[in-house]
Amino acid sequence: MVSKKHWAPTASVEVGEVRQSATGAWVVSGRLAPNGICPECGAPSRQRHGWRHRRIEDFPAQGQAVWIELKVCRWRCLNSDCRRRTFSDREAAVATPYARRTSRQAQLLGHMAHAAGGTPSERLLRRLGIRVSDDTILRQLLRAAQVVPPRARIIGIDDWSWRKSQNYGTIIIDLERRAVIDVLEDRDVVTCTDWLRRHPEVEVISRDRCGLYAQAARQGAPQAEQVADRFHIVQNLRMAIEE
Ligand SMILES: [Zn+2]
Repeated sequence: MVSKKHWAPTASVEVGEVRQSATGAWVVSGRLAPNGICPECGAPSRQRHGWRHRRIEDFPAQGQAVWIELKVCRWRCLNSDCRRRTFSDREAAVATPYARRTSRQAQLLGHMAHAAGGTPSERLLRRLGIRVSDDTILRQLLRAAQVVPPRARIIGIDDWSWRKSQNYGTIIIDLERRAVIDVLEDRDVVTCTDWLRRHPEVEVISRDRCGLYAQAARQGAPQAEQVADRFHIVQNLRMAIEE
């Protein structure tokens, strides 16, 4: 039997009620387990200062969006040296402080953006019950890129579609960690060369076989070895056979 706790994004959320709104979306009311540790100074508090109400989107269910109406405890910081008077509990495993979606949904958007790009992800996610714009998906990808350690030895560089087949940027991937390191807003030799100059730690660059990234790698990272990636080798072979 499915109990209410299955609607909680993590065990720290106690679910009170689950209902379906007029539009079909599920609304889960819940409360974050009180914690009372000041994020500024780390002092514990037992003096409550009301509640903060958050509304965050979680994984969809039955093809419908799931909204979590989360009550988060507010506290007074009792440390007189702390510059923060009040604070509300935070739990990054549920959602980061001002996020509009749960951390697990944000991660999913990042993975989708990485695998499929902005607009295809928007369409796929819509069919799964997550209505999100391609801009939001891309912001998520960039946010995920910023928490990845920046020193990569072996990178992949390729073009990447901001809008399907119209607007191309450049995606740079750490091939050892399988993580996006950066997304450049265009596919321009100068932009890529600049990026590579700022990353002298790069030893191997895997790239497509067109001239742009090869030229950028020659200029920006002469120390690095260039290799053609498997996808483009197979693609070139197929085209040669077809001709
Ligand atoms: Zn404090």
